[in-house]
Amino acid sequence: MAEHKNDCIVCGAPLVYLEQPEDLVCHDCQRSFTASVRCQNGHFICDACHSQTTNEWILQQCLASEARNPHEFAVRLMKDSRLRCMGLSTTSWCGRAVDGLC
Ligand SMILES: [Zn+2]
Ligand SMILES: [Zn+2]
Repeated sequence: MAEHKNDCIVCGAPLVYLEQPEDLVCHDCQRSFTASVRCQNGHFICDACHSQTTNEWILQQCLASEARNPHEFAVRLMKDSRLRCMGLSTTSWCGRAVDGLC
């Protein structure tokens, strides 16, 4: 999978490099960091979350999710831009991942 380091992995907007670091809250883990890169819409992903593999991310989402229905959960995952960029095979791949994890 190609990495999209120059776009926000939350919304796909271009990243903005700030002149002064700001206190930013990671979109994924909700922890605060001082960082100088965020997207145009204000999203920030910390290094730990950014380097997480997609499988780890799905597992984390799965553990955090309260959805009981795997299909509902898969649909929610597929709306995330991280999976959207993976193409047409995502539906079956994601379904398998969810079946295996939940
Ligand atoms: Zn964003
Ligand atoms: Zn994080």
